[in-house]
Amino acid sequence: MTVLRRLGLALLVALSGAAVAYLYYHNGHTVPLHLGSDQHFELPLALHLLGAFALGAALVLLGGALRAGASGLRDLRERTVERQADQTERWRDDGRKLLWSGELDGASRLLSKAAERRPDDCETALALAELHRARGESETARRALASARARIGPEPRLLSETAKLALERGSAGVASDALREATIVAPASPRLLAELASALAAEGRLDDAVDAATRRLAAEREPARREAARRELVALRYRAAAALGETPSGADAMRRVLAEDPDFFAASAGLAAAAVASRDSRSAEKALRESIRRRPRGVLLERWRALFTGDGQPQRALAVLREACSGNHLAAPRLALARALVAAGRPDEAEGVLAEIEGDAARLAAEGVDAGPERDFVAAEIALARGREASAARLFEQAASGSHRPFGYACGDCGKASGSWTDLCSCGAVGSYDWLV
Ligand SMILES: [Zn+2]
Repeated sequence: MTVLRRLGLALLVALSGAAVAYLYYHNGHTVPLHLGSDQHFELPLALHLLGAFALGAALVLLGGALRAGASGLRDLRERTVERQADQTERWRDDGRKLLWSGELDGASRLLSKAAERRPDDCETALALAELHRARGESETARRALASARARIGPEPRLLSETAKLALERGSAGVASDALREATIVAPASPRLLAELASALAAEGRLDDAVDAATRRLAAEREPARREAARRELVALRYRAAAALGETPSGADAMRRVLAEDPDFFAASAGLAAAAVASRDSRSAEKALRESIRRRPRGVLLERWRALFTGDGQPQRALAVLREACSGNHLAAPRLALARALVAAGRPDEAEGVLAEIEGDAARLAAEGVDAGPERDFVAAEIALARGREASAARLFEQAASGSHRPFGYACGDCGKASGSWTDLCSCGAVGSYDWLV
């Protein structure tokens, strides 16, 4: 109550008292107050008035007390709701912390309590699904996400998580459907579009995947992410082209990929393979030569050398390989050149090239390149060409026991090694395999 209000009240009481006293002084005689037909009592007029004032004041006070009581109850109810919401949030956050630290039982207890109180909370539903996945209960995780989806509606994060789980369970179609629904809700989300492109590619729907990846590229704003989106789109276009096989239409699709990204060497290898299949060696040579000039990758060097040794004209491979060796100290083009020289019957020159690699061993080692197994392998081929079988056998053995398989490939993304080149790694990377040297 403010001071002013108190003063006002005191003044009102004083004035009322003065008025009653004034009336009592001038009207001291009693006046009857009838409460019923045979019930009355007599009091001076001033006391009647005083009673009426007191009754009015009591009613006003009672009304105030009732109002204050109702407001207090409302406040209490609101405070209780707020306290419960805070507690639920704390259960959820603590549950997630426990989940991240691997304390799954504790996380389960807190998250279940939070979900019981707030079944429509997306964060809790996601954390619970993650918990089930961490426990290896993918079917329970799937059911949890499905029931959250039914309660909360098409929430993009729920749908994205549903898709991730479906992909893990090998249901690429389910993943695509969930992500398509998510992209209807959030059509400008590059992340969802990227996930949709991956799911469609996993489903084998490469043309649809290209469409999704094209939309993603248009939606990306950050330069670095745009570049990643562009690479992803080129990789999907390459996969769609590769799916056409070594056919004229496949070759045309590969050419379009190369027109978009001339450095995408898997497309050069694919184009060369398609050209070889249709006996168009001129086109195969052109595709490989142009790509080697951009960067001498293992698969290109290998196929270039094989193109001519297969035709019995290994000397025709030499010019481009010598060109690939100039202006750098790379081991790969030198090793391919040395092998082509051996095939062309020029072991002395091949030995000279190997000596060159050996001279650069320290520099290569500093770059993390160990060309030892490949050098031993080519040295064995040289020994074989010179008719020194015993020496060749020893060198082949030495090559096989080196740090890696000679002329083996490895994925630049996940490091998985392979004896032969492949365009698609199990990690999902496209055109990532290259020689280890
Ligand atoms: Zn990989």
